[in-house]
Amino acid sequence: MEPRTGNNANKSLFMATLRDLAIVGGVVFAASLLGILSRPTGLLAVFWPANAILLGLFVRMPHLATGRGWLVAALGYLAADLVTGSSTLNSLWLAAANLTGVAVGSFLYQRIDPEHRTLSRPLSVLYMLAICAASAAAGSVIGSEVGPAFMEQGRLIGAAFWFTTELAHSIIVLPLILIMPPLSRLLGCLHAGWRLRRDSVQRMAPFLALVASILIGIVLGGPGALAFPIPALLWCALTYGLFTTVLLTLATTIFKLITVTVTTGVAQHPLPEEFILSVLSLRLGIVFVALSPLTVASINQVRKHMLQRLDYAANHDSLTGALVRRAFMAQSAWLMTQFDRYPRGLAVLMVDIDHFKRINDEYGHSVGDDALSGFSHAVIQRLREGDLFGRLGGEEFGVVMPNLTAEEASKAAERLREQVSQVEVVCADGTPLRMTISIGLAMHYPGDSHTLSDLLAEADQALYRAKADGRDRVSLAWLLENQPGFSG
Ligand code: GH3
Ligand code: MG
Ligand code: MG
Repeated sequence: MEPRTGNNANKSLFMATLRDLAIVGGVVFAASLLGILSRPTGLLAVFWPANAILLGLFVRMPHLATGRGWLVAALGYLAADLVTGSSTLNSLWLAAANLTGVAVGSFLYQRIDPEHRTLSRPLSVLYMLAICAASAAAGSVIGSEVGPAFMEQGRLIGAAFWFTTELAHSIIVLPLILIMPPLSRLLGCLHAGWRLRRDSVQRMAPFLALVASILIGIVLGGPGALAFPIPALLWCALTYGLFTTVLLTLATTIFKLITVTVTTGVAQHPLPEEFILSVLSLRLGIVFVALSPLTVASINQVRKHMLQRLDYAANHDSLTGALVRRAFMAQSAWLMTQFDRYPRGLAVLMVDIDHFKRINDEYGHSVGDDALSGFSHAVIQRLREGDLFGRLGGEEFGVVMPNLTAEEASKAAERLREQVSQVEVVCADGTPLRMTISIGLAMHYPGDSHTLSDLLAEADQALYRAKADGRDRVSLAWLLENQPGFSG
């Protein structure tokens, strides 16, 4: 059996490597082809996303950036150029310039905090700008050849052209590759976006403002039109998430990039120097148009995550992950006012670990802590979405379960008890330790005049009885037979 398993592992490793290489080569080839097709009258591409996509791929998935990965990427560039009729010499130095830029960008990204790769730090967008500028500058050392080869200009103009083109494309395309969510989440986002469109015209306002600002730019024209979408993009950045903002910025700036090149007299050959300089200036302008919404959206996301972490820390117990008493009481009291959420009844459980003092005394406080977290983990696993679990003090916990009958609640409590009894805590000497719990259960129905304190007091009394009756059991505040919906 052994060698066969080894062979299978080798085979799947080989298949995975092959798939990785196909992804790198295929993506570079397809993106280069797209760029080449956007070349007006045999000049340089209007839109060249290949380098930014390759850089993003290598930054997000460093395991692709192997020697073979680089080789396949080079072949992707060369193949796209050669099949579209470029000379071998031009294809070679173009591929070398592209790869040099990507190599420098990928090298620098490896040297900064990984959180910058997902634009998760306040300065991430500025880091990205600096890396993209360094990458574009490195590429332009070889790319300067575009001056004499394609434009009948000197190498200096060629280098400036390569630099600005590369910088504009990487600032526009790289953020999308860096933060693109997996396909399943992407579909979820699209669905949420569709619901948003139907539910809230107000939420659409920033997007509509963006479309309007672009249309006004088309009507009025002129170099200033480049900046028209900035306020609407900032509004989008403050309203939508980072990914949506990146998409909207990408669409706006690609549109600007293409119109800038096409409307500035691209058909002439050789290109007049004034044309080249004005395209360079406009492309740099586009970089800065893109930077503002990206920075705002990225900082907004950082802020949102920080608030979420703060909110979690303020409302959850760090040892057990249960809600702290204040949050549990507030959320339970709120739930009791939501009658439509529990037409069948709402169960309140008081849960206490049996003989917990003994665990502490015999095995030490840290084993006691492990037992507490093992207990909570087991309870959280068993709860449904919408149930509440809170630490009321020491090793005493509350659970609120909406929308179930007394009978179902008592079965759910029984399952909790069983689940916890299966938990094994390993002591310092390696011996496994088990624990039991006692549960007191009280029920609440829509329209009852109980307050939360009444319910907790009833559940507490039931818990007290469970302890008195011998522990490791569930005790009900009322006779189950008297509860609505009891089936016998
Ligand atoms: P009973 O079956 O009657 O509930 O017995 P018991 O020993 O569990 O008694 P009680 O519920 O009063 O025990 C509470 C103990 O829980 C006392 C305290 O030392 C311990 N305890 C409370 N909070 C923590 C904690 O965060 N970590 C640890 N290790 N122990 C805690
Ligand atoms: Mg106890
Ligand atoms: Mg106790």
